[in-house]
Amino acid sequence: MDCLFCKIVAGEIPSTKVFEDDRVLAFRDIAPMAPTHILVIPKQHIAGVDEITPENSAIVSYIFEVIPKIAKAEGLDGGYRVVSNIGEDGGQTVRHLHFHILGGKKLSNEMA
Ligand code: AMP
Ligand code: ZN
Repeated sequence: MDCLFCKIVAGEIPSTKVFEDDRVLAFRDIAPMAPTHILVIPKQHIAGVDEITPENSAIVSYIFEVIPKIAKAEGLDGGYRVVSNIGEDGGQTVRHLHFHILGGKKLSNEMA
């Protein structure tokens, strides 16, 4: 499968990792939109939020256990934002489920 983030998981494409275990990888976004911009992904390939099912949804709750730990380690004490873009209209450019952690400044309230 020609998936950029699967290649990052496999180590075929380098990344700046901030967290890794058997199920999840987090790494710095190559084009940061905030002082801290991290992507959290499941190691298993799921295309996006639109491909979450009863069979694979446990990884999502696990990712949301990991996210606050990363945020704490990054010193995002004032808060942060978690975003997942879905499909073309949602602005998703990589079809492997990922959650953006954005922080390190007061973020704009613009949502769309
Ligand atoms: P999205 O547009 O929501 O699908 O997010 C994809 C994100 O992946 C974008 O913010 C890109 O900057 C980021 N990205 C693309 N290629 C890489 C890479 N090789 N390493 C790290 N981040 C990447
Ligand atoms: Zn993938």
